[in-house]
Amino acid sequence: MPPLIPPATVGRLVTYLRVLTDLAAAGVERISSDELGERAGTSAFQVRKDLATCGRFGTRGSGYAVATLERELRRVLGLTRVWSVAIVGMGRLGQALADYPNFAEYDFALRGAFDVDPAKGGLAAGPLVVRHLSELPAAVRDDGISMAFLTVPAPAAQVAADVLVAAGVRGILNFAPTVIHVPDGVHVEGVDFLGGLQRLAFALGGHTAATIDLGV
Ligand code: NAD
Repeated sequence: MPPLIPPATVGRLVTYLRVLTDLAAAGVERISSDELGERAGTSAFQVRKDLATCGRFGTRGSGYAVATLERELRRVLGLTRVWSVAIVGMGRLGQALADYPNFAEYDFALRGAFDVDPAKGGLAAGPLVVRHLSELPAAVRDDGISMAFLTVPAPAAQVAADVLVAAGVRGILNFAPTVIHVPDGVHVEGVDFLGGLQRLAFALGGHTAATIDLGV
């Protein structure tokens, strides 16, 4: 078993990879932990600590070879293959995701768009055609779909997630503002940009817990 890397570290590794990919495209060959930290919005100490959790990279004093570190991070993150992704829930958000043209740049391939509304079946969605959710299991099997965007209304999210799990999807990016429960071995990431706005509202004008009046 490879060593477990904490989720917060994985989040920073993804950021380092993005920085390294940009640097490699710009022809930069070496980078110090100071500069990588600066570009990734963290410290050199954090960079060295994070990279130490996944192997031995770089030499003291001369920094990291950009191409090597980029390749190794891709390997650690499981990004050495193309992942097939479905969208479940082809309303406004599902359509917007289907229209995003750059998934392939990141080695993700959109392979299916599904909805339960018969009126949506056959509609174009970016490069895809919307299919009924009942066709999902066959698509997962035939197209090797292992991840999905879940963009259904909150009350439908658990039911739709259950369909995804039963079909063999193991990674769900959940946009619905609700917690979904999945068995061990299936991973859920929540995307919550409205929650992000609410946290910003707190940062800009919120009050400390001490001022909350619970009226009891
Ligand atoms: P929408 O109403 O436009 O579309 C939802 C679609 O899901 C519809 O086409 C509907 O037919 C389909 N659907 C319903 N039940 C289904 C099921 N069981 N299986 C498959 N498809 C099903 O909604 P929207 O505006 O696109 O929003 C989608 C979700 O994203 C909602 O849960 C919404 O709250 C959420 N949302 C999240 C954020 C965020 O920050 N993550 C922001 C906006 C909206």
